[in-house]
Amino acid sequence: MNPNDLPSPWVLARRAARMNPSVIREILKVTERPGIISFAGGLPSPATFPVGEFATASARVLQQDGPAALQYAASEGFAPLREKVAAMLPWPVDPGQVLITTGSQQALDLVAKVLVDPGSRVLVETPTYLGALQAFATQEPEIVGVHGDDEGVLPDDLRAKAAGARFLYLLPNFQNPTGRTMSEARRAGLAELATELRLPLVEDNPYGDLWFDQPPPLPLSARRPDHCVYLGSFSKVLAPGLRLGFLVAPAPLYPKLLQAKQAADLHSPGFDQRMAAQVVAGDFLDRHVPRIRALYRSQRDAMVAALQRETGGLGVEWNVPGGGMFLWARLPPGLNALELLPRAVEAGVAFVPGAAFHAGDSEDGQALRTLRLSFVTASAAEIDRGIATLAATIRQAAGA
Ligand code: PMP
Repeated sequence: MNPNDLPSPWVLARRAARMNPSVIREILKVTERPGIISFAGGLPSPATFPVGEFATASARVLQQDGPAALQYAASEGFAPLREKVAAMLPWPVDPGQVLITTGSQQALDLVAKVLVDPGSRVLVETPTYLGALQAFATQEPEIVGVHGDDEGVLPDDLRAKAAGARFLYLLPNFQNPTGRTMSEARRAGLAELATELRLPLVEDNPYGDLWFDQPPPLPLSARRPDHCVYLGSFSKVLAPGLRLGFLVAPAPLYPKLLQAKQAADLHSPGFDQRMAAQVVAGDFLDRHVPRIRALYRSQRDAMVAALQRETGGLGVEWNVPGGGMFLWARLPPGLNALELLPRAVEAGVAFVPGAAFHAGDSEDGQALRTLRLSFVTASAAEIDRGIATLAATIRQAAGA
């Protein structure tokens, strides 16, 4: 049965008919099979989760303010956590502008609900984060991809597509999926161009703290706070299972986002927020995040070394990301990553075909050759074996 044809008496809403299963979640199901080395999911390394700190914090929260932690709470979020978020950001932010969300994924949903009508133009980098495309799609926008180069979105392409757009969604740091970081010059130019075009920006920055060599340049939100909604997450620096993220919104927009949040879930879990506030109080993140950086840097290095070793002569290309969790690779001409995936899974290794991340232009031959490889979930030894398997699969597919 076509999933859009529900049996009587059910009638599917138009927006539900436009929803698609996340390609990544479908692939993740396959990769749960024992023995598969997965570079597919964007799962932070469980070795980085501060389990002991959460054990202590949960006991303390329950002892000190158990009933309040288990009660309904303010939709804006737990005040000490909002204060900590504001203090962590590299520009002056009033805690009153911070809304704690159920993961930054919810922030994407709220932004779309508040800013997008059916048919509204929404600009995204292409390729971009699949979960953002999913969140925006529920509001039935016209999603338009803006092309980029190694420095970020191309100003001329942005100018050509900006008319009437509700916002441009950007991931300037260690982008998902390409691992790219927007240069300082491009950020400075884009901040000016967005002002000139009166184009709001939605800046998503879950990976900015995970830099390997040097911190990324200042966010666009620090340069044009009145033009930007900024999204952050505790998923990559603490643990994704907490489902805690946040947005920072200009004062005129904040009440509407708050109302959308109330409609969605009243508030994010108060117990989680109090535990997170306990864990991040003081300088815990200053000690913890460098350990994540060091681990992920070594795993990136292992993947780059394995690619160099195993793909010689095959014509595979890749970038070397300066942070984050993802490496973006390109197959030799004539190969298609979607077609390669089942053969790779059969051989014991998984990745995400790059076409999944493109907004409407995935038929482009270039996009079909791309793939995203996460280097943070598998160990260095698994990375070695997985890349060797991937290279053998490519060699076979290429008939080399
Ligand atoms: N934005 C981007 C770019 C992401 O990669 C992710 C997670 N994969 C999210 C937002 C959502 O993260 P969370 O809801 O866990 O904060």
